[in-house]
Amino acid sequence: MSRNALSASRTVVPATRFAPSPTGALHIGHGWSALMAHDLARALDGAFHLRIEDIDGARSRPEHVAGIVKDLNWLGVTWDGPIVMQSERLTLYRAAVEQLAAEGLAYPCFCTRADIAREIAASASAPHGPDGHIYPGTCAHLSPEERAARIAAGEAHAWRLHMAEAIRRAGALDWLDMDRGTIAANPLPFGDIVLSRKDAPGSYHLCATMDDAAMNITHVLRGADLREATHVHRLLQALLHLPTPVYRFHPLLLDVEGKRLAKRSGGLSLAELRGDGTDPARLAADLRAGRFPVGIRAG
Ligand code: GLU
Repeated sequence: MSRNALSASRTVVPATRFAPSPTGALHIGHGWSALMAHDLARALDGAFHLRIEDIDGARSRPEHVAGIVKDLNWLGVTWDGPIVMQSERLTLYRAAVEQLAAEGLAYPCFCTRADIAREIAASASAPHGPDGHIYPGTCAHLSPEERAARIAAGEAHAWRLHMAEAIRRAGALDWLDMDRGTIAANPLPFGDIVLSRKDAPGSYHLCATMDDAAMNITHVLRGADLREATHVHRLLQALLHLPTPVYRFHPLLLDVEGKRLAKRSGGLSLAELRGDGTDPARLAADLRAGRFPVGIRAG
């Protein structure tokens, strides 16, 4: 190993995170996820951080933030440093979108949901991506003059990534999945993803990617529902010159009907269990051992 490689590896402190959205009460699946990320950090002799993904102003609620803190404390999940709130980082997200726009990699999109639905209904083929229908590209073809005029007129707009151009500039990319090895990034099926929304200066993809880098996260452990999103995150890392963490994905918990546990699934929220007098140490030990309440399984 060269001297440089050695000194570089010495400065990297392993770090993981748990990044819930405060849109409801955490359920045992969240508790399981938080414990796994926490335990991975401790096994690596690293740090564990808590980030609250509260960019969705309409759905995020302060009482859910308080509930998350209470639930994690109760379950014995302790984090290092201050809680990172995405709502306090909005200017950074805005600056990144401006940077991508200045580089010709982002364009304003004035479409409403209804416009997009109409366009999709009218087109012969409406390809689906991992996030649903692919944006048909309506606003990608507007002239610079029309864009400038509509922005100047105060028309509400999101910003979208020029996916094909971004991929062309970034070149071949991959990342390391702790369980599956090297994965080649293929973000193309997502189409021109939203970077910032009409009502929020960042999208999940942009904010999560930027924050993982800003928080020096070396190992991202999260639900398998976000496995595909990593293709987009890897591309954004390349475009914004951010480091790439290692990834691991855990299965989601399913109920008796095979449906994913949701924040609204009754009886399985950490708050309800707390209220029922459940022993948190016992619950944490059960979750760590993969023992779930009757009818619940990891799938
Ligand atoms: N905020 C996301 C969620 O609650 C998790 C984001 C992530 O781990 O990257 O599902």
